[in-house]
Amino acid sequence: MQFDLSVFIVEDSLIQRMHAAALCTELGLRVMGEASDGNEALLMLQNMPLPDVMLIDLEMPGMDGIELIQELAHKAIPVSIIVSSAKEDALIASVETMLQAYGLPVLGAIRKPLTLTQLDKAFGKFNPISIDQLQKRPEVVMASSEITRALIEHQFIAYFQPKISIKTGVIKGVESLIRWQHPEKGLIMPSQFIAIAEEHGLINELTMEVLDLALQQCRHWHERGLKITVAINLSMLSLSNSAFAEQIAQKVASYSIDPSFIMLEITETAVMGDVGNALGTLARLRLKGFGLSIDDYGTGFSSMQQLSRIPFTELKLDRSFVDGAHAKPHLRAILASAIEIAKKLDLRSVAEGVENEDDLTVLKELGCDIVQGYLTAKPMPGEDVVAWLKSNNQRLRDLCKPLP
Ligand code: C2E
Ligand code: CA
Ligand code: CA
Repeated sequence: MQFDLSVFIVEDSLIQRMHAAALCTELGLRVMGEASDGNEALLMLQNMPLPDVMLIDLEMPGMDGIELIQELAHKAIPVSIIVSSAKEDALIASVETMLQAYGLPVLGAIRKPLTLTQLDKAFGKFNPISIDQLQKRPEVVMASSEITRALIEHQFIAYFQPKISIKTGVIKGVESLIRWQHPEKGLIMPSQFIAIAEEHGLINELTMEVLDLALQQCRHWHERGLKITVAINLSMLSLSNSAFAEQIAQKVASYSIDPSFIMLEITETAVMGDVGNALGTLARLRLKGFGLSIDDYGTGFSSMQQLSRIPFTELKLDRSFVDGAHAKPHLRAILASAIEIAKKLDLRSVAEGVENEDDLTVLKELGCDIVQGYLTAKPMPGEDVVAWLKSNNQRLRDLCKPLP
């Protein structure tokens, strides 16, 4: 199709900019301007007639595409927008959602490399009326757009909490727990953003980011002779994605780490949701050699029969049964039966949220294998783990010595 429209291209790579301009010209569009980042684009727009459409790359040095879009929305500049990125489809889709929330007319979100067909389809959606409505829209700022930006800018970090053998006090592994190091708001806990990331299709991106951070640390520890396993938390949403097992395996292989050193923690409710697909993904991961841990055990509805169909290697007793077990007989009874089930199914049992020695004693009596909680260690940055181990070695041995 041929379009009687003007376009402004914002893209940092000269080659890609030329490629985009050539495609636009081929579609009959007038290329009114080109900029290599958001700041330059905003400056240029002050001194020229507005284009009909802006074609914006998301990753750029200086002001990136997301910030530029936020500026355009803030200033209520009446242009339609097409975004492009080399990143994952889910990430691009979330930016599209952000644009819609801002009330900016979005013609398309394209994964690079740009093609004539993609651009033709996007420009075909141009509608002058939506531009007129733009000035009336209030500003909406969505948290998911902040998550997207944080992913691009690598603001997520991993903390690690040691998992300690109850019988010896020796570290067996660590669990990675994501944190958001926000430039203004400081350290943000996962409860404040995981659900939002899940709702907006960003959770796989987030998982992959944590996996990278965890694998970097794992390799570092292994190179220094600390052969521990590293656990990461998986969202139930990832399990229904059939490509997921392969993505994880490839990433782990790229760090030359054996999958047996990676434990994947999955909550019980997740497994019971989309049973067919989840089982397939879990089976595939287990076949590749990953450890599989059932997280928050006791909070869902898993029966012994359901559990035995899934190739788990570890069972994590939820904190709500552990905390105060020494004083509450009903909690002790639940723990006893859960640890019993773990033994029958040949699973390693891990108690979460162990905060005091009395509860630890109960766990020893019941034959639990691993303890994870504030009593033994709080989550900490990866670079602190080795020093922490050195200074806590004796304390851990004393804590975990067998009952008389
Ligand atoms: P979870 O997997 O059950 O992780 C254990 C949580 O309990 C962590 O909270 C940990 O800091 C906390 N904890 C550990 N020991 C104790 C204790 O002795 N007492 C108390 N009161 N708390 C303890 P955190 O780091 O805030 O994580 C919360 C949840 O967020 C996690 O629960 C997990 O479901 C989710 N999460 C964390 N990181 C990720 C991630 O990378 N991906 C996904 N999908 N979810 C994550
Ligand atoms: Ca967990
Ligand atoms: Ca848990």
